[in-house]
Amino acid sequence: MIIDLRSDTVTKPSAAMLEAMMNAPVGDDVFAEDASVNELQNFAAELFGMEAALFCPSGTMTNQIAIKAHTQPGDELICDTASHIYNYEGGGIAFNSGVQARLVNGDRGRLNAKQIETVINPNFDWLTKTSLVSLENTVNRAGGSIYETAEIQLIKDLCLKRNLGLHLDGARLFNALVVTNDSPKLYGQLFDSISICLSKGLGAPVGSLLLGNQEFINKSRRIRKVFGGGMRQAGILAAAGLYALKNNFNRLHEDHENARMIESALKKCSFIKSIMPVETNIIIFELIEGIEANHFVHKMKENNILCTGFGGQSIRMVTHLDAPTNMCTKVCEAISAVSF
Ligand SMILES: *Cc1c(COP(=O)(O)O)cnc(C)c1O
Repeated sequence: MIIDLRSDTVTKPSAAMLEAMMNAPVGDDVFAEDASVNELQNFAAELFGMEAALFCPSGTMTNQIAIKAHTQPGDELICDTASHIYNYEGGGIAFNSGVQARLVNGDRGRLNAKQIETVINPNFDWLTKTSLVSLENTVNRAGGSIYETAEIQLIKDLCLKRNLGLHLDGARLFNALVVTNDSPKLYGQLFDSISICLSKGLGAPVGSLLLGNQEFINKSRRIRKVFGGGMRQAGILAAAGLYALKNNFNRLHEDHENARMIESALKKCSFIKSIMPVETNIIIFELIEGIEANHFVHKMKENNILCTGFGGQSIRMVTHLDAPTNMCTKVCEAISAVSF
């Protein structure tokens, strides 16, 4: 049996999820006639207390649609250097929207209002127009770090004052929410738009949702079509997403406990240089000089455990619902037994 900790996207639909997919009423979603897609969108909008939601094939698409909808070509958006929208979306900020990114080095991927204020351009003809701030919670590249809600409130106040849109890449927002105990509705009030992934910790095979007010989602629907994301009988996928939202949210705690268990095992190893604080389901650690990331990945593979090199000496492991505690215990044993 393979224990795959490369990402929380590797989960496969459970029998109950497949059952929900099999029984999903469907229609043509380009005509907004797919009952299952509509149900998912309404459920999510209500969950966040936002006016509307849009079902899309990926989190890259929901982020890229949001950037397009909030900006004009030639504008600038502010985001952290570690952000997914900047690093892992194929240059989409420039490609899709003709927008440039003003990068700020936050604290493990998290910006604060003061930092943001210093890089908002004043309104001169010759300066790039700042139009959007994009935050990520949890921050993937920074080891699943969580934002302080009070800081987001300060950022929200700043964006209101300076007339900037505020977008959240909430691919793993639910991982943050089970830790902070904040309600999705609070996040619905803080952001103009939110992207959530159903295909990460929640365990759906495909799909993300973009949330916002009705006008924003109407605009986003047009952009989704241009991007080639208008799907037809997408209800089969939406049903999986709805099942995931309803059933797999509260169990995310288990993934976090398992991640901390692996962190503890790593802390005892002499070949580990440092581990980013584990706050959610992502574990990123650095190997000491002289031990290559590939070498460690290979040793794990010999034990049927998959993880990934994350640049330089770093390795990433991500816990999820298809790697329950008994499997993570095996991972800990394998880590303890590794020698170089
Ligand atoms: C996974 C992820 C996304 C979206 O990725 P897709 O693979 O396009 O669904 C966006 N932001 C973050 C932080 C992610 O981890």
